[in-house]
Amino acid sequence: MILFFGTRPGKQIVQALERATCSHCHQRGSLRLISQPNYFHLFWLPLFTISTSRFAECTHCKRVYYKEEFTREMEQEMGL
Ligand SMILES: [Zn+2]
Repeated sequence: MILFFGTRPGKQIVQALERATCSHCHQRGSLRLISQPNYFHLFWLPLFTISTSRFAECTHCKRVYYKEEFTREMEQEMGL
């Protein structure tokens, strides 16, 4: 019997940040948070989430912010 298991990315969750300011172009409310969960699967059935990668993107200047670059303001709105 062959076991198929491994990790797969889950469904992306996009959340608009309405109060945070982009520190690159200084636009307010242009940021959105993208969360991408990674889960462990067995025969493609998701068992549990291993990690969730998060990044923010500015819809105005297209600047991408990774976790280390989030400002206090962004984190507050994300509820981190
Ligand atoms: Zn921007």
